[in-house]
Amino acid sequence: MCLACDFRFGPARGRRAFLLAAGAAAAAPALAQVDVGEASVARNLVPAENIERAGVQQYHQLLAQARAKGLLAPDGNAQLQRLRAIASKIIPFTAQWNPRAASWKWEVNLIASEQINAFCMPGGKIAFFAGILDRLKLSDDEVAMVMGHEMAHALREHARARLAKNAGTGAALSIAAQLLGLGQAGDLAARAGTQLITLKFSRSDETDADLVGLELAARAGYDPKASVSLWTKLAKASKSEGALGFLSTHPSGPDRIRVLQANLPKVEGLSGRLRNGG
Ligand SMILES: [Zn+2]
Repeated sequence: MCLACDFRFGPARGRRAFLLAAGAAAAAPALAQVDVGEASVARNLVPAENIERAGVQQYHQLLAQARAKGLLAPDGNAQLQRLRAIASKIIPFTAQWNPRAASWKWEVNLIASEQINAFCMPGGKIAFFAGILDRLKLSDDEVAMVMGHEMAHALREHARARLAKNAGTGAALSIAAQLLGLGQAGDLAARAGTQLITLKFSRSDETDADLVGLELAARAGYDPKASVSLWTKLAKASKSEGALGFLSTHPSGPDRIRVLQANLPKVEGLSGRLRNGG
């Protein structure tokens, strides 16, 4: 049985009611300006705490590897302090999108790699690679857009939904079984973690993360127009450098930028900035 098809083509009423009830906790907030609808109900097949635990374990493995190579930025690093300051402005708005986020132990780290990359693991574990800051010369507003986008993937539980939807297909089956609590807990991070960090989201998940991230960053006071300048820079970088890291999982094109532009009026008032027609 394909779980994704089962959801798409009409699950049994009782099961659906159960899933909807279980999913109510992560519904879009009533005051949301962007129109993204409910988070996927399929994600409820995987317990949130399991995927958050896997995310946290994988994150700490990555940090340990970076530290061993001397690539983990120390607390006094100016760019790291800048990232943490931006995160601290956005975090107060995250629980509106997922109440579980209120108890996440958010962490932000910087890895001294020239890769253009950044992510937020389930459970609120954020890493930026120096390349995305240095090579794209990101402003604070643009950093906030990257961070908001990555936080939105975690808040909207896209990884959890993707693994649940993959549960009926070959390679992902054992990972899903682990996350569903059917396997040995000790093996969880090693098997699920790799999957989490390399997970490629669907186009609709990407649009969802773009819009939720845009609103998060705007509420934190950042300029929504930076979303357009960010994705313009990313599009340029992927032309000159090919699709590696963030660029491989985040194709930037006119459609993406058009959707963001169309949503700017919905969030510009939130950031406390006057629209200047730019
Ligand atoms: Zn994304």
